[in-house]
Amino acid sequence: MLDCIIIGSGPAGISAALTLKANGKSFILLGKKSLSAKIEKAELISNYPGLYAITGQDFCAALQDQLAREEIEVVEQKATGVYAMKDKFFVTAEGDNTYESRTVILASGVETVKAIEGEEAFLGRGVSYCATCDGMLYKDKTIAVFCTTKALEHEVEYLASLAKKVYLLPLYKGVEVEGENIEKIVKMPEKVEGGLRAERLTLKGGQTLEVDGIFMLKDSVSPSALVGGLAVENGHVVVDRGCKTNLSGLFAAGDCTGRPYQYAKAAGEGNVAAHAAIEYLAK
Ligand SMILES: Cc1cc2nc3c(=O)[nH]c(=O)nc-3n(C[C@H](O)[C@H](O)[C@H](O)COP(=O)(O)OP(=O)(O)OC[C@H]3O[C@@H](n4cnc5c(N)ncnc54)[C@H](O)[C@@H]3O)c2cc1C
Repeated sequence: MLDCIIIGSGPAGISAALTLKANGKSFILLGKKSLSAKIEKAELISNYPGLYAITGQDFCAALQDQLAREEIEVVEQKATGVYAMKDKFFVTAEGDNTYESRTVILASGVETVKAIEGEEAFLGRGVSYCATCDGMLYKDKTIAVFCTTKALEHEVEYLASLAKKVYLLPLYKGVEVEGENIEKIVKMPEKVEGGLRAERLTLKGGQTLEVDGIFMLKDSVSPSALVGGLAVENGHVVVDRGCKTNLSGLFAAGDCTGRPYQYAKAAGEGNVAAHAAIEYLAK
């Protein structure tokens, strides 16, 4: 069993990974090899100690270089669920993967696209956040796919290869994915409705799509949707100064714990969370 599973490859998750590595702990870092869109997209960073006026892309390259030198690999899988057992955690991830650990550090950032009405209520009942986990359930069916970033277009492609019809609602410009069964609609989703399962997606302006399933493809999902029983306030994970959450053995760091949304705060909390996890493991 692993000592820790880190969810998120931004500054908070990377800082936690470096600290765990330096202390000889076993862990995996779930995220993206490109690390974080919020690093890549920054034009110029002038407030990170020691790196004056660095571009987001150079900062990202420096972090990737540091991870490579420390032989820390980013496992490119999205965590889809965190389950707290008596004294351990099960984490499920894309591609039918399951991991087991004694602690978890949640460093998943904040999703700027808020959940719409009915989204979380129908999660697992027709609403899904993960194409590779649930795509097969919608073979030859009609689905709506809300995609917030071009980086997730491969998931749309995968879903289109299975479904009979895909209503694609992109939140970005320059959509490249196409197919005979894909209908692009440039409108924001507003409300999910249904009975036992999601059946309808209403769009801004009133158009309604009758669907068998709805995929909300986002960079990150809300912490409460990922971890059952986690204390969350105004969308942020509640933590103490040691980055401890209300669930024993589960720590949180970075933007997901609240403002200020800054690299230095994220890296600092990643370090604090890792030390708290090490202390917890020692007990
Ligand atoms: C355009 C822009 C410019 C900015 N400029 C500055 C600046 O100049 N200075 C500054 O201090 N701050 C700046 N920020 C803010 C800064 O980017 C964030 O505060 C910082 O990136 C937060 O780090 P984090 O590790 O908490 O989260 P993120 O950097 O958001 O990283 C979280 C990572 O976790 C991944 N993830 C989420 N859910 C899962 C899951 N379920 N499984 C696996 N992985 C998951 C995400 O895909 C993401 O890669 C800027 C932000 C933006 C958007």
